[in-house]
Amino acid sequence: MRAEPLLREVFGFDSFRPGQAEIVEAVAQGENTLAIMPTGGGKSLCFQLPALMRDGVTVVISPLIALMRDQVRGLKEAGVEAGALTSGNTEEETAEVWSAIEDGRLRLLYMAPERLASGGAQAMLRRIGVSLIAVDEAHCVSQWGHDFRPDYLRIGELRRDLGVPLAAFTATADAETREEIVAKLFDGERPREFLRGFDRPNIHLAFAVKDQPRRQILAFAEGRRGQSGIVYCGTRAKTETLAQALREQGHSACHYHGGMDPDDRRAVEGRFAREDGLIVVATIAFGMGIDKPDIRWVAHADLPKSIESYYQEIGRAGRDGAAAETLTLFGPDDIRFRRSQIDEGLAPPERKAADHGRLNALLGLAEALECRRKSLLSYFGEEVETCGGCDLCDKPPELFDATTPVRMALSAALRTGES
Ligand code: ADP
Ligand code: MG
Ligand code: ZN
Repeated sequence: MRAEPLLREVFGFDSFRPGQAEIVEAVAQGENTLAIMPTGGGKSLCFQLPALMRDGVTVVISPLIALMRDQVRGLKEAGVEAGALTSGNTEEETAEVWSAIEDGRLRLLYMAPERLASGGAQAMLRRIGVSLIAVDEAHCVSQWGHDFRPDYLRIGELRRDLGVPLAAFTATADAETREEIVAKLFDGERPREFLRGFDRPNIHLAFAVKDQPRRQILAFAEGRRGQSGIVYCGTRAKTETLAQALREQGHSACHYHGGMDPDDRRAVEGRFAREDGLIVVATIAFGMGIDKPDIRWVAHADLPKSIESYYQEIGRAGRDGAAAETLTLFGPDDIRFRRSQIDEGLAPPERKAADHGRLNALLGLAEALECRRKSLLSYFGEEVETCGGCDLCDKPPELFDATTPVRMALSAALRTGES
């Protein structure tokens, strides 16, 4: 199965977090991988999703029983056959895992590293058709680290024994730990390594309160005449009217949405790839598979649905590393629209709550008072020292302004008190 439908249908996410798509692809294809991602970055998905794309069982080695149980519970709720063999199991739980293994139903088998100490476990794993080993918190293999777990040293042997690919994950990025992981888990043979922070320093971030959205977008495009850009809109109708308005201003612009004839859509994709300076005004249907490196700007005429979508959409700009600019408009109507979209959807309540959380995170970013890059990256678990550019760093909001009306009201009140 392909990754995107599983991402949506099983995990309930609309888009990958930064870095996930590449890792999922490599792991699913059976490459040995070492992925370093900040805490909260979404590492679990990078082995859970490939586990569903591959035949056979994925063995997940994880250091903490509580972590394993959480993940198994989450997977089962999503309808995935997963189980854990840990010392914390009841006999019933263990029997259930075994029967799922025997029937060939089990897709993910979580195991504490201690289990690997018994010869029985290795023999069992050899028998059940393991197709992938995933190692969570792989820095536990490092003898010099704080989290050293001696039994992690058995994983390399298991990999050799089973002859299957191994995917290792950690948030610990220092070079020494990385070398130790490569030496101990992969016998020194270099895996494919993924070490990409989430920061895209060449992308300038800006938000503005919507007052006259069409004029605001036209003004933004005016300042970037002749450059390739994307304007994302919340509705299909708006893509058409806004593209028309841009053409009336002399821009080369066309619309794109899921309601169009597939041939027409392909024509727009082709023009965008070939031409310089075309503006595509689109719904989020325009995205997957767009890998034009020199998109110089992305504007949101309407607020995206989540902080993940925002990151992914602005991330289409500046892939070539040269400066790129973004502008996201938002207003009370957007917030109402996005909220009702979630509430009226068919997702189960927990998922709706999570979707509201991701929308709230975006609102937090929209209303941030200092560096947007810091807020954005801290959501993904990453810290940055310097900002490559955002509207708030360019021009810090004058907090004094916000208090002026209050002060005026206050002094007015004082004056009335005096008279
Ligand atoms: P890590 O192991 O890297 O610290 P997790 O795998 O625990 O991170 O994921 C952190 C959070 O991010 C979880 O709540 C998870 O549901 C969420 N998450 C992961 N991938 C995505 C995604 N593509 N879109 C939205 N949320 C995601
Ligand atoms: Mg984790
Ligand atoms: Zn900043």
